[in-house]
Amino acid sequence: MKYLIDGKLYDPIKVGDVGDWNEGNPDGVCHDCAAKFGEQHHAGCDEECCPVCGLQLISCGHEVYDVADDYQVEEKSEMN
Ligand SMILES: [Zn+2]
Ligand SMILES: [Zn+2]
Repeated sequence: MKYLIDGKLYDPIKVGDVGDWNEGNPDGVCHDCAAKFGEQHHAGCDEECCPVCGLQLISCGHEVYDVADDYQVEEKSEMN
């Protein structure tokens, strides 16, 4: 799964990823949603960081849409 934020695709910050509370800690477990190292935080987890601004995802103000991995962003430019 990916996130669509401001019209761009982002990979969710998983437990242990750069920017995560448990960055680089293979024994890390999320204190809120209990996701383990390498797993994605569960929806609404208050320890998940926004991949755009690095703040708490549930309160940073970005509008985040969950989309499939193969989601294609529609290009506005047309080739006529
Ligand atoms: Zn979590
Ligand atoms: Zn944000």
